[in-house]
Amino acid sequence: MAHCLVTGGAGFIGSHLTEKLLAQGHEVTVLDDLSTGARDNLRSIENHPRLHLRVGSITDPVLLADVVRGIEVIYHLAAAVGVKLVADDPVRTIETNIYPTEVLLRLAVQGGQKFFLASTSEVYGKNPKPQWTEEEDLQFGATSRPRWAYGCSKAIDEFLALAYYRKFGLKVVIGRFFNVVGPRQVGHYGMVIPRFVDQALAGGPIVVYDDGEQIRCFAHVGEVADTVMRLMDTPAAIGRVHNIGSDKPVSIRDLAAEIARRVDSRVQINFIPYGQAYGDDFEDIRRRVPDLTRLQQTLGSKPSKPLGDILDEIIAHKRAQLASGG
Ligand code: UDP
Repeated sequence: MAHCLVTGGAGFIGSHLTEKLLAQGHEVTVLDDLSTGARDNLRSIENHPRLHLRVGSITDPVLLADVVRGIEVIYHLAAAVGVKLVADDPVRTIETNIYPTEVLLRLAVQGGQKFFLASTSEVYGKNPKPQWTEEEDLQFGATSRPRWAYGCSKAIDEFLALAYYRKFGLKVVIGRFFNVVGPRQVGHYGMVIPRFVDQALAGGPIVVYDDGEQIRCFAHVGEVADTVMRLMDTPAAIGRVHNIGSDKPVSIRDLAAEIARRVDSRVQINFIPYGQAYGDDFEDIRRRVPDLTRLQQTLGSKPSKPLGDILDEIIAHKRAQLASGG
């Protein structure tokens, strides 16, 4: 059993990962500034004897050096996330996503920790291919469009991590997350499923941007957290990038209809232009589907929970929250 550090451990994905690491018998230190994460995400484990919560920012290098002492495995998930947050605050995105990763990687070289870097499908930018393998070109838009700052900053993290692997033999595993969803995800930062479910539960309308023909694949957070842990236990994953997600595409229009049908079929679905949602300098990614061949080869499996089951779980979770006044 190892002592693990999960940066961003009070966030949506980080809290699920933390629960699973504890359940496997590991000791876990969570470092989180509780900005987009929340103490409440750790409620089910808050008194766990092997959980240590450090509230602070990964942008503080002195704190980072202190926190990694005694740690054997680092899961680096803390980042500025969400298209809306990134579009609203590009300075914070760049500062949170680049320098702290470099500091942590350097500390891991000194301390000999294994390192998981949470990256994102945003690194592919607007690559027009119907499905993306890990070796695809990265195709960002102009720097005048803040959205690309997120993918670019995470691409730099990946370059850094791979460089530390090659130069210093640091054991790094990189996962590119594709639209991870599930209980505890919130809609404030733009994520589509919690927004649609909240809108439907409030009686509608569900607000779809543009024509709703955008394509995404949604993976369950529990399966994603399991995938991350298994990759970290697989020597063949070291020094490599893996797509992590579902490869079952759905249009946003169909997603809205599916959520309306499950919550209340009388809920209306409205369509508004991107400019109204994100401002005029916004560019969306029309289609985002991972090729999971590498993940399948490395682990022998890939996330496969059906979207309908995922939606039912999220809707039930939100209903329970509403019922308890949360
Ligand atoms: N979207 C939408 N309504 C919303 C939020 C998002 O129609 O309230 C669309 C958005 O334009 C995008 C898709 O849903 O095409 C997924 O958006 P999200 O921000 O969840 O993820 P990402 O764009 O990073 O894949």
